Amino acid sequence: MSNKSKDILLEHNISITNPRILVLEQLLKVKKPISIDSLLNSLDNQVATSTLYRVLNDLQKINIVSQFLSPENITMVELSLNESGHHHHLFCKGCGDVTDIELSLGFEQKLSNEVKMLEKTLGFLIDDHGLELIGECNACRDSV
Ligand SMILES: [Zn+2]
Ligand SMILES: [Zn+2]
Repeated sequence: MSNKSKDILLEHNISITNPRILVLEQLLKVKKPISIDSLLNSLDNQVATSTLYRVLNDLQKINIVSQFLSPENITMVELSLNESGHHHHLFCKGCGDVTDIELSLGFEQKLSNEVKMLEKTLGFLIDDHGLELIGECNACRDSV
């Protein structure tokens, strides 16, 4: 077991517990968004369901894990360790795989200009945006 998860917990001043280590290690290993069910399975029953939810909750409070819904309304979790981690997601309709994607700086800039205009015209304070790309991954396309 690497010490990375321990370091992360230390850095964020929360106590080091075995379930937190296990969950963090797994998220570090998969390096991409994962559904709570898959995460639970991948942990081989080393962590109880209720414990997993509690751990994820704790990790979200210190902003190192974030969650979002897939187009099928499945809750996905992912690590959000770096603060400049703004990104988008690519969803496969076939296997449910989710991939992190970064859009070009130019695109993000245009989008944020657009958002600023909307804020003005609508008098609405906008603090975030999402953009999902939905399709079929290569593996799913090949299996047709
Ligand atoms: Zn797929
Ligand atoms: Zn964006």
